[in-house]
Amino acid sequence: MPAKSTRKKKTRTVRKAVKSVKNDTKVATASPVKAADDTKTTLKTATEVKTAEKKTETKIEAKSAEKKSEAKVEAKPAEKKAETKVEVKPAEKKAETKVEAKPAAKKAETKVEAKPAAKKAETKVEAKPAAKKAETKVEAKPAEKKTETKVEAKPAAKKSEAKVEAKPAAKKAEAKVEVKQAAKKAETKVEEKPAAKKSEAKVEAKPAAKKAEAKVEVKPAAKKSETKVETKPVEEKKEEPVRELPQPRRSVAFIGSECYPFVKTGGLGDVMYALPKELAKQNCDVKVILPRYACIPEKYQNKMVYRGSFDMNLCSDGRSFYVGIMEYVWDGVVYDFIDNQEFFTNGNPYTNLIDDIPKFCYFSKAALAALNYMDWEPDIIHCHDWQAALVPVYLDTMFKDTPIGRAKTVLTIHNLRFQGVYDKKMISYWTGLPDYVFNKDALTVKWLDANMLKGGLTYADAITTVSGTYAWEIQTPEYGEDLDAHLRYHSGKLRGIVNGIDYDIWNPATDPRLANNYDLGNVLTEKRKNKKALQEELGLEVDDGKFVIGLVSRLTNQKGLDLVNEILPQLIDGNTQIVILGTGDAQYEDSFRYYENAYKGQVCSNIMYDETRAHHIYAGADALLVPSRFEPCGLTQLIAMHYGDIPIVRETGGLKDTVEPYNEFTNWGNGFTFDRYESGLLLDAINRAKTLYFTNRWCWDEMVQRNMDKDVSWESSARQYRDLYVDLTR
Ligand code: ADP
Repeated sequence: MPAKSTRKKKTRTVRKAVKSVKNDTKVATASPVKAADDTKTTLKTATEVKTAEKKTETKIEAKSAEKKSEAKVEAKPAEKKAETKVEVKPAEKKAETKVEAKPAAKKAETKVEAKPAAKKAETKVEAKPAAKKAETKVEAKPAEKKTETKVEAKPAAKKSEAKVEAKPAAKKAEAKVEVKQAAKKAETKVEEKPAAKKSEAKVEAKPAAKKAEAKVEVKPAAKKSETKVETKPVEEKKEEPVRELPQPRRSVAFIGSECYPFVKTGGLGDVMYALPKELAKQNCDVKVILPRYACIPEKYQNKMVYRGSFDMNLCSDGRSFYVGIMEYVWDGVVYDFIDNQEFFTNGNPYTNLIDDIPKFCYFSKAALAALNYMDWEPDIIHCHDWQAALVPVYLDTMFKDTPIGRAKTVLTIHNLRFQGVYDKKMISYWTGLPDYVFNKDALTVKWLDANMLKGGLTYADAITTVSGTYAWEIQTPEYGEDLDAHLRYHSGKLRGIVNGIDYDIWNPATDPRLANNYDLGNVLTEKRKNKKALQEELGLEVDDGKFVIGLVSRLTNQKGLDLVNEILPQLIDGNTQIVILGTGDAQYEDSFRYYENAYKGQVCSNIMYDETRAHHIYAGADALLVPSRFEPCGLTQLIAMHYGDIPIVRETGGLKDTVEPYNEFTNWGNGFTFDRYESGLLLDAINRAKTLYFTNRWCWDEMVQRNMDKDVSWESSARQYRDLYVDLTR
């Protein structure tokens, strides 16, 4: 609605301005409904004005140009598209149809680009910058072929430069991203390939220096645009702050066992999705390598494109296995799925160690072999948890003299509890690794076992974990899971980088799953509505005056649920409601079911995994409980804060790093915390929260707003990872 009214206003202003020029009476009276006519008229007018009197009317032109672009937005672009297509098609049908058709549906900016391109073909002399744009597009089209030959990939390298150049025209770059997103819907191979090639081309065309040059070139280009009518939208963009891409560019291969939305069992899945996406925005060329589990939803399986296959020797007796590569490109990130039906047919990514150990030995080696097969040499290979921990070991042994052998490795510990420990002989057989890696400083533990995570920690160039406090904690016997001494030994290359959350998924202002969207400005009124919607949905007493405590968690021993079980009856006071969402150990599932029965209308236990319900709980709850025994980072407290909930957490790992305890004297902090793992302290923290809620709502509300305002995005965390990559590859 506001957009329309602004448009109307602008249209009126345009009319006045154009009237004053007199030449353009027709434009002023033209109905904005007639899209094609308008466009033509405005363009003609602009040209006339330009040629007639540049000096005095430049500003007016600028305005009218703005309006024209708006008029285009309103105008049904179908006709224009048709025109554009007709002109561009001769070059390369498929690519164009996508590049232009979709953006046209979405944004005027893209159209603005498209049109000059069409005109440029006709009048290059007029519009120099436009000519450049034309080059960019021309490159984009032949991209299809680039995969086949590196020689052709060079234009792709230019493409990336062209993007950098285009930065001054900030939105042009955005427009491209949108193009990709829009094109996603169609999800055709043609769309995916260019991205894949881009990444390849970039590896070859690493020289960051060239890009820098490209930027210098940009400025003159921008100046030229000032003199042209067609490029006026570019002038507007010049006023916006130009976001410089951090330099130098780095290529990174992520290797891990799960990734949202394909397959996710916990925080690792979120990180594998959100971090590469943010890194791609920060000038990293990212590939994510995942197992192609049969449980990946059909809608994604159908979009994967076959990239190739080969046989790979795996076991110590030379037994070999098929490795297929299926590719899917999304949001600037290339996802390569390792395909093998022997290992990945099970409905669940993890089953039991007897199956999982061979599965992830195979996966770690196949991921590296696939990189070589695809001829893609990353600067960094970033692997995650024990399932991918053998990657640094393989890279430093069997892959040392292969093209990817020069890559540096980063191993991130998302949860030290899981290490991939099994009989040494079995792991030796399945990996085919040389005997010398099975020594006590690398893979061997307790003489007869091998520990895959320990091997990775030994061979990785850098180790990270997901919060600073956890990085310190795991070097102590209490949290070290028997690897504390090993981690202390390698502490020089260990650091903590706290996770973020993906604002595209977790944003109460835009979250399509919520009954009522809200933001910092209206959280105090709108969140109540979400609370009522949640109460209705779950069969709780509908009353927005109740204090609603949420708990969204895997139901395991790690999460402090025995503490919750001990004190839950003491929380029931007629003014408090408890909503639990989770699956896991039977003992917790059963006890929470019991409490739901015992306290009907006040406790609701959702023993299930349900993303939508999780969103409803974050939006409807007043407080979120995370009383973990240990917590490497924890995402639920971050999501909770972003949704205006007050976290009640134990001071451990990432919980300690992200939730500042509320101080009633200074009225500052983000939540309520307790330190020792004791149920009495948890109860005390919850009671302090309740007291503030019921007796000092003003301070509570302030904390809600403070939490929503806190930056828990991936941006700064991704920057720290990027810095690490650059440090490692200087
Ligand atoms: P962990 O990785 O240890 O399981 P995190 O707090 O890092 O814990 O991440 C948990 C993620 O999984 C969050 O995104 C949370 O919303 C989600 N989650 C956990 N349990 C459920 C569930 N039962 N249904 C839906 N989402 C869940």
